[in-house]
Formats: sequence, C-alpha cells, structure tokens
Amino acid sequence: MKTKNIFNALLSLTIAFFAFTLVGCQTKENEAKVKNIIMLIGDGMGPTHIPSLMLEEQYVPTNFQRAKRAAFVTTYSSNNRVTDSAAAGTALACGEKTNNSVIGLNAQGDTIYSNLTLAKSLGLATALVVSCDITHATPAAFYAHATHREERESIATWLPKSGADVIFGGGLSAFTQRSDNANLMEEFSNNNYIIASTINEIDSIKEGKVIGLFAEKHLPSMINGRDDALPKATAKALEILTNNCKEKGCGFFMMVEGSQIDFESHANNAKGIYAEMKDFDAVVGIAFDYADTHPGTLVVVCADHDTGGMSIPSCKTDFTLGESGVEYNFGSTSHTATMTPALFYGTGADSFGAIIDNTDIAKKIRELLDKN
Ligand SMILES: [Zn+2]
Repeated sequence: MKTKNIFNALLSLTIAFFAFTLVGCQTKENEAKVKNIIMLIGDGMGPTHIPSLMLEEQYVPTNFQRAKRAAFVTTYSSNNRVTDSAAAGTALACGEKTNNSVIGLNAQGDTIYSNLTLAKSLGLATALVVSCDITHATPAAFYAHATHREERESIATWLPKSGADVIFGGGLSAFTQRSDNANLMEEFSNNNYIIASTINEIDSIKEGKVIGLFAEKHLPSMINGRDDALPKATAKALEILTNNCKEKGCGFFMMVEGSQIDFESHANNAKGIYAEMKDFDAVVGIAFDYADTHPGTLVVVCADHDTGGMSIPSCKTDFTLGESGVEYNFGSTSHTATMTPALFYGTGADSFGAIIDNTDIAKKIRELLDKN
C-alpha cells in the first residue's frame, strides 16, 4: 500500500513536471523578445492632430492608422497640470515626473537616467534624431541633466558623454559658439565620430558613429523648406544602427522627435501643423516598415503634451448641411492638460495599457530593455 502511494506521488510529480514544462515553452514562444525599440515623439501632438491630418489627406489612410494598439496618456508634471517639454521629456525618457523646465532630474533634484543611457550601458546601439536644436528640451531629457532647460551650453556638454551611435538634428552653435570658447565638436572627432555638415553628406555613411548638426539652432520648418530631412535622417539612422548592431550582435534604442508640430501649434498655424504632421507620418511609416522587416522591433509613437487645444468644428452653423472647406479652432497658444495619443506597433505592442501615464511608457520600455 505504501509503495503504491509513493508510486502515485511520483506519477503526479512527473505529470506536473511535464505540464509545467509545456506551459513554460508556450509562454516563452508567446512572449517574443523585443530587441530594438524605436520611440517616436510628436512634440505637441494632441488628440486632434492625427484626425486633422486624416481630414487634410481626405481620409486616404495615413501611416498612423497602421498601428496595432493605442492608448491615451496623461501628461501632467510634478508642479503643474500642464506640462512643458522638459518635464514631459524627462517623464518619457526616465520614467519619473519632475517640475516644468527641469531636464533629467526628479522633483527633489536627484539625477535620474534615461532609457537611452540605460540602453547604452546594456551594450545596445543608440540614436537621437530630431528636427529641432538637439539641446532643446525633449532630446535633452534623453542625455542631459539640468535644473533649467534654457541652460543650453551646459546641456550640450552632456551630449558627447551619451556615446550615442547616431545624432542628427540642429543646434550646432551650442557646441561651437560658446562662452567658454570650447569646441565640443572636437570631442566627437576625438571619439571617432564621422561629422556630417549637411543632410546630403549622410548619404554615403553606412556605419560607425555619426553626428550631423545641420543648423545653428532649429532646422527650418516644413513650410520653410525642411523638405524630407527628418524622414531621411530617420531612415539613415536605422541603416547605421542595423549595420553597427550586425557587428556587435546587439539591439538598439532610438528616439526620433517630430519637434516642430509644437512650434506650429503654438502659432495656431493649421497649414504648418498639416505640413509637420505629414512629415511625422512619413517617419512613422519608415519605423513601421522597419518593424515589418525586422522581427523583434517595437515602435512606440507618442507625444509629450498637446499644444494649441485644437478642435475641428463644422464650417456651417447648420451642420446637418453638406460640408465645404475645413476650419480649425484653437483654444490656446500654449500647451494644454488634455490626454495625448500613443500608438504601438511590432513586437511587444500589446504590453501597454489603454489609459496610461507618460511615465508608464518609459517604465515599460525600461522593463523590455532590461530583458534584452
Ligand atoms: Zn511647446
């Protein structure tokens, strides 16, 4: 009787072991590993910006609409229901709230680190691509620490320390025309960076470390002739990261900012918003295409805050009549406290919640990076 009991116990254990192993295998298969993370930030892209692009495009599907998951994001900062790009950039980069104007420090003034810094420390390749001054608040939150976003020259000193593989944007004067007479571009060349002076110079670059600051401050706006600089820089950064990773056998983290959606929204300029949104949509398309052809790539499209409080009313007082023309109303020339859209695509797209905080995006990315 005793022997039979032992036999039964052993049999149960064996069944339990095989059942556990099978479930374990299935779980592993279902949780495909995120290797590459592409974070796309539309600065000032509130809930009406994507619908306005869809309307202007006469409902021909945009790249945004290819997203597999979407969320609404709360954006308040530590000291204001309406965030600025410094506090929001810090939340999206580092996963902690801080006060407006603060870069890479928490509300108590402690230094906090971005996912770009984490990715670099884990041996991943990294890139920053923007259409503004690279020392501007959003990109700065990914590599710098400053009590005030206006400390441009001090913010610039952090960029060479970031070790990012690819840096494309504007803001050259913060590196070359400084009150301390230092030329920070020399630090990049001493660290074997290829330096591109114009957007066309990047065409021939295929790998290695690259920095291209193509304007003294911001790049031109779309309506003032930026042309395809941002999508082009995004595609080139992906090519360089892919080649660098091939050698090292690593993944990458990249942040691209559609920086000037915010500028045009502050100006309540509907034409400018359309041009910047169309440009950002092209960037989204490039990232989604990359995810299609490179399994293990997650694309997160999000915003730091809404700018402009835009709404799309009917042009007719009697809206039961047929529509003609498009009109926009703006509730603000500044940022607003409304929730912003976030879209997810590729491997790991379903790991985000539906109504989330801006810090949750960074925290989830951090979790995925840690598993890398
Ligand atoms: Zn702004």
